[in-house]
Amino acid sequence: MNEDKKQPIVAVVLPCYDEALVLDSSAHRILDLLREMTCEGLVSAESVLLMVDDGSRDNTWDTIKQISAQNVHSHGVKLSSNRGHQNALLAGMERALDRFGADAMITIDADLQDDPNVMKQMIRLMNEGNDVVLGVRKSRTSDSFFKRTTSHMFYRFMSWLGADVVYNHADYRLLSRRAVEAVLQYGERNMFLRGIVNQMGFRQAKVYYDRTARTAGETKYPFKKMVNFAIDGITSFSVKPVRMVLGLGLLFILMAVFQLVYVLYSYFSNVAVSGWSSLMLSLWFVGGCILLSLGVIGEYVAKIYIETKQRPRFHIEDEV
Ligand code: UDP
Ligand code: MG
Repeated sequence: MNEDKKQPIVAVVLPCYDEALVLDSSAHRILDLLREMTCEGLVSAESVLLMVDDGSRDNTWDTIKQISAQNVHSHGVKLSSNRGHQNALLAGMERALDRFGADAMITIDADLQDDPNVMKQMIRLMNEGNDVVLGVRKSRTSDSFFKRTTSHMFYRFMSWLGADVVYNHADYRLLSRRAVEAVLQYGERNMFLRGIVNQMGFRQAKVYYDRTARTAGETKYPFKKMVNFAIDGITSFSVKPVRMVLGLGLLFILMAVFQLVYVLYSYFSNVAVSGWSSLMLSLWFVGGCILLSLGVIGEYVAKIYIETKQRPRFHIEDEV
């Protein structure tokens, strides 16, 4: 936010991968909205729409060039190859900060399935002192049953693993300039933005909206990509899977102790076939030892993993 209470320069960042079918109408809808918000005195007249072409194979880039030629508030950047949704968002936010000096950035999917009208509310909430405003879906009725259940499972699984994610919030959000600066301090290659934004802190607010179906084109997140995204999210946020190996090792060794009792009992009551006792015992004990060692090694690997990310240690929120 500007110190002198001027209207904030807002950059709406639109990641586009093969979105030629929807881009034209989406861009104009956002531009109309920006104009409306400028008239209402909500945002500065310098606010922009920034479209990021994530290495599309169709004529998305031509569309972006065309829109940008017609409208001074609209800009485009093209990534040299497909780097994925999260990287497209980062590229856009970085550009919006450096090139347009944006005070706030709103990221929204190019298909506008997420209601752009709540942007006004997002900006108001930012003016009230929030650095992060998350768009949260009220319902998922427009998604297929399959997508609904799998994403529900994903959120549950993530929170069980200890990676904080807000239920039903995707990548529709407003970040103030300092929140974006904080995000850009994260040095990791594999950015899972919704996790990072949540972990980062700062004052947060939420706005709720109904998500509609895609009007044209098809989803860029087919099942395989969704699974990869989920795995990326989990492994970039949690070392719990490694801890589970350690836990399993301990469990196996505990089992070996119980086996010991059972095996000794069978041995002395002469019901055990010869050779069975030693086999049985070593099976559980050796298995447990291997898992335990793997878990111990894993702990160190996890530490190295956390260190190599070089995440910022803190963010300053206020100073007096
Ligand atoms: N997207 C991108 N790069 C990719 C995949 C997707 O920039 O590699 C963009 C895409 O253009 C869209 C947003 O990410 O703006 C979300 O994709 P989509 O709407 O297909 O996902 P869904 O709504 O089906 O989850
Ligand atoms: Mg979509």
